[in-house]
Amino acid sequence: MHKVAIVGRPNVGKSSLFNRLVGRREAVVADFPGVTRDAKEGTMLYQNHRITLVDTGGLWSGDEWEAAIRQKAEWAMEGAQAVIFVLDPREGLSAADYEVADWLRRLGTPVIVVANKIDSQKHEVYLAELWSLGFGDPVAISAEHARGLDDLMDRVMTHL
Ligand code: GDP
Ligand code: MG
Repeated sequence: MHKVAIVGRPNVGKSSLFNRLVGRREAVVADFPGVTRDAKEGTMLYQNHRITLVDTGGLWSGDEWEAAIRQKAEWAMEGAQAVIFVLDPREGLSAADYEVADWLRRLGTPVIVVANKIDSQKHEVYLAELWSLGFGDPVAISAEHARGLDDLMDRVMTHL
């Protein structure tokens, strides 16, 4: 069984991406105890591979990057072969995004940087900044317009 986790700040489009990829195949909804936010799990098929996707929920409570929330995300990510780190580059990167990047580096799971909300070509100017996170070439997608999803999944496949 392959497992891939989706992480990122609230409102970057994690759940939109999850729903796009899982579609009607969404299976399990898992509540992790002791925290207010849920991690949601679902399965998808891509090129004959069954992949469990985990929407880890938001990584922040208010403006805080809390240990309890981080711990919950680590549980949800356990056993994942890759992490999809979703960002909204139209908003620009924040200090919090770099903190998440450092945390992901320490965890050691391979990270795919995903620029969401690249709804059209004119938004591609926002991509360059994402290289500064230190995970290489960002994948540009639009969860809302189903743009770039094959590029993303092809990248995911390199880690399975
Ligand atoms: P999450 O908090 O990271 O799970 O983000 P959501 O999936 O709930 O999306 C947050 C907001 O971003 C919603 O209003 C979505 O409609 C919007 N959104 C998600 N994906 C896209 C996208 O590709 N383009 C645009 N323009 N908006 C998007
Ligand atoms: Mg969400």
